Amino acid sequence: MTFVPKDWLPQDDELGGKTILVTGAGDGIGRAAALSFARHGAEVLLLGRTEAKLEAVYDDIVAEGGQQPGIIPADLAQTSHDDLMALAAELSKSLAKLDGLLHNASILGDRKALAQTSAAKWHESMQVNVNAPFMLTQAVLPLLEQAPMASVLFTSSSVGRRGRAFWGSYAVSKFATEGLMQVWADELGGIGSVRVNSLNPGAVNTAMRRAAYPAEPPDTNPEPAALMATWVYLMSDASSGLNGQALNAQG
Ligand code: NAP
Repeated sequence: MTFVPKDWLPQDDELGGKTILVTGAGDGIGRAAALSFARHGAEVLLLGRTEAKLEAVYDDIVAEGGQQPGIIPADLAQTSHDDLMALAAELSKSLAKLDGLLHNASILGDRKALAQTSAAKWHESMQVNVNAPFMLTQAVLPLLEQAPMASVLFTSSSVGRRGRAFWGSYAVSKFATEGLMQVWADELGGIGSVRVNSLNPGAVNTAMRRAAYPAEPPDTNPEPAALMATWVYLMSDASSGLNGQALNAQG
């Protein structure tokens, strides 16, 4: 967590006045991030594939006194460019700007040797983990450009920085995520108000981690909520100097 200044603590209204879209907001890290952004004053837009989970997060945010969130049910495995352009057009009717975009939703895909990975599973991982974040960023870019300081955060992984056997399409999709982040950052950084970075959460106790490491005691790893100061920092204007960085939340 070296990039977060040692003495930095978010103010209660650190994200006040900001609207932040979170993908995969129904569970795990995305759920914790949405709750944390709302606790710090943001209006959050909850995008995910399981509407009941988004509604539960909505209820939690409202029960805590947060701003009423938006719910965007969408299965990123199925969404087309047209769907995402239509979503952005719909958002533009009620939003003057978008201050933050957390690309968090991902799937593990086949945890197999590449030699055994099915082409269908490969395409699905690339669709959810890479194609959808590319298309969504492109679709909402005009809204991001209306914000005085917007932050786009891609979610990476250690296997997206150093390939590892049997991580297949997931690892390759995370390498692509880093590439996507770098190209957006180089195109947008310095000429406007949109900054783009990637964050590797490290090991976190979520459904994805438990599926990837079934033999590992779940309490080996921190809960998502324990790490959220880093996500808040990256959505806050406090991190406005960061662009094009591949960051680590732990270690
Ligand atoms: P998780 O518990 O599996 O949560 C992923 C969220 O993404 C879920 O809410 C899921 O929806 C949603 N999602 C998956 N496929 C989707 C789709 N097709 N359309 C829309 N939403 C979809 O995973 P997590 O551990 O919180 O992971 C969050 C991010 O951190 C991912 O990018 C992951 O690669 C990264 N990461 C996690 C770890 C870790 O140790 N946990 C380590 C490194 C990187 P449902 O709830 O409906 O399934």
